[in-house]
Amino acid sequence: MISIHSKLPGTGTTIFTVMSKLAEEHQAINLSQGFPDYDCDPKLIEFVNEAMKSGQNQYAPMTGLPILRELVAQKVNDLYNANYHPDTEVTITAGGTQAIFTALTACINPGDEVIIFEPAYDSYAPTIKMLGGLVKPYQMAPPNYEIDWNMVKKLFSANTKMIILNSPHNPTGSILSETDIQELIKLTRNTDILILSDEVYEHLIYDERKHLSIALYPELRERSFIIASFGKLLHATGWKTGYCIAPEPLTKEFRKIHQFNVFSVNTPMQAAIARYLRDAEVYNGLSSFFQQKRDKFRDLLQNTRFDLLPCSGSYFQCVTYSRISDEKDTELAIRLIKDFRVASIPVSAFYLHNTDHHVLRFCFAKKQETLEKAVERLITL
Ligand code: GLN
Repeated sequence: MISIHSKLPGTGTTIFTVMSKLAEEHQAINLSQGFPDYDCDPKLIEFVNEAMKSGQNQYAPMTGLPILRELVAQKVNDLYNANYHPDTEVTITAGGTQAIFTALTACINPGDEVIIFEPAYDSYAPTIKMLGGLVKPYQMAPPNYEIDWNMVKKLFSANTKMIILNSPHNPTGSILSETDIQELIKLTRNTDILILSDEVYEHLIYDERKHLSIALYPELRERSFIIASFGKLLHATGWKTGYCIAPEPLTKEFRKIHQFNVFSVNTPMQAAIARYLRDAEVYNGLSSFFQQKRDKFRDLLQNTRFDLLPCSGSYFQCVTYSRISDEKDTELAIRLIKDFRVASIPVSAFYLHNTDHHVLRFCFAKKQETLEKAVERLITL
């Protein structure tokens, strides 16, 4: 028997695949994996078709179509007052997860320590481990998932190579505040610690709050890879396109990995996205569109025995369930699919050691009728 000496012996299949598959098997309403159940703008699809028909079907440049990189640089300049050169500091990627993988692969050597904030998106820890790095988790807890920076400081050592940030945060919907950022500036000043800032939900932020991109802070910018997602921006997560912006020396290393990882991202999608983004209006109204969904979903959930946690951004609403049961979040999530036909994500899946605070995550990037139908079922729980 041929067997592989596993790079990730303790790792199973990602929770998103597990829950979406279970949802399908049980014909459950899928509020687990984060993706919209409504279509993107038909204009976008037209643009892809036109790009294909006009012969844009061969490899794009390794770093991404120049026009798309220029539009990204312009957007970042408009929104965050930061200058990134489109040729040397912007790279189009096959989605956020690939960009994260690539940035980590470019930077992490065996023995390097990476600080992450748990609950954390489930690709971070396995990728770090696969590279021989050591994961140093800071555990955040409900209801507010705040960060005590004095405790974070204790995780620092001579081997700290990187900190991974994620705001708006998946799965909790919390966001970094100005105080958080100032603490981070203090902690990293006069060090060569790198930052990977996962900002894929940058445009999904609620209650008039402002997204504090790392790009806004020159002291942090110089040490940071910032990752973003066109999937979330355009309601087309299946297009798997995003980008990474980073200062030239960092981008240079990023691209060394990117070129042998994906080489380049599909051309017609890039062409269509670029054409679509020329209309700057695209960025407007996205927060209020999702805020309405969040508010309606929260209202609906008031009729259940779930307790709502705060949500300031992202696609996700988290809930606790002490009034319903004391079972493990994984058990309840499975029972919800099988008996109530609603799929969610157990938040313990986002902790290295599966810490269970009895929290479930629901994705509200869905049609109103989908949310209503799901809650109708949850009310009976
Ligand atoms: N970001 C999405 C989520 O949290 C899923 C991404 C994926 O399935 N890889 O649900």
